[in-house]
Amino acid sequence: MPVLFVGHGSPMNAIDDNEWSRGFQKLGRMLPQPKAILSISAHWYVAGTFVTGDEHPRTIHDFGGFPRELYEQRYPAPGSVDLAKRVSKLVGRGASLRTDWGLDHGTWTVLKHMRPNADLPVVQLSIDGRLPPAGHLAIGQALAPLREEGVLILGSGNVTHNLRHAFASWQRGETGTPAWAQAFDADVAQAASQHDGASLARLAESEAGRVSHPTPDHYYPLLYAAGAADARDSVEFPVAGFDMGSLSMRSILYE
Ligand code: ZN
Repeated sequence: MPVLFVGHGSPMNAIDDNEWSRGFQKLGRMLPQPKAILSISAHWYVAGTFVTGDEHPRTIHDFGGFPRELYEQRYPAPGSVDLAKRVSKLVGRGASLRTDWGLDHGTWTVLKHMRPNADLPVVQLSIDGRLPPAGHLAIGQALAPLREEGVLILGSGNVTHNLRHAFASWQRGETGTPAWAQAFDADVAQAASQHDGASLARLAESEAGRVSHPTPDHYYPLLYAAGAADARDSVEFPVAGFDMGSLSMRSILYE
């Protein structure tokens, strides 16, 4: 099974018809049929590694100030306690099952287009904000056996994610992509193409990384995908480009 990192961007992509929502649909068409999906979303960023253990995970609307239509969206995919237990075992480090989360918008706004029928079990794995970048790569690596078991490992974040900058540019009516975002996006793409996990980890802590990610939550899902990838995988970027000037929407497909 391939491994996918997707740039999710604005929650509005769930209901808008735009370049990005069509990109998510394209990703759905490119993938073989998985048995289940394990999602690592930027939006479950907590002090610990946990796994959703619900048979019916709820749709979480973890954002504010959007139109009612967005809050009415549901993604009724089943969960899988069996898969959650398998993930917990692979990760080790006391990655226990929790039932106080569900599917947050990093997961469902993308899957809404990729798998519109919500017919596959979806489990989420949290991101432990206390771990260094190498720790996230290592968990990704530990998850790699799931690929042979038909599970799609999906990281959902953004290669660049400085919302303060994005909103300020938007308010000024600037739509161009700043050099720092172009450069960081290109560096990540190159390191991903070369299966250079060490560089991907280093980039997170570089000066450019801090400009592109004032907080690293949207970067780390990429490290899980890169960790689960194999050096023999081909690397493709089925979706690329910037939203709101500086927000990279690049997707990375390892297969
Ligand atoms: Zn997000």
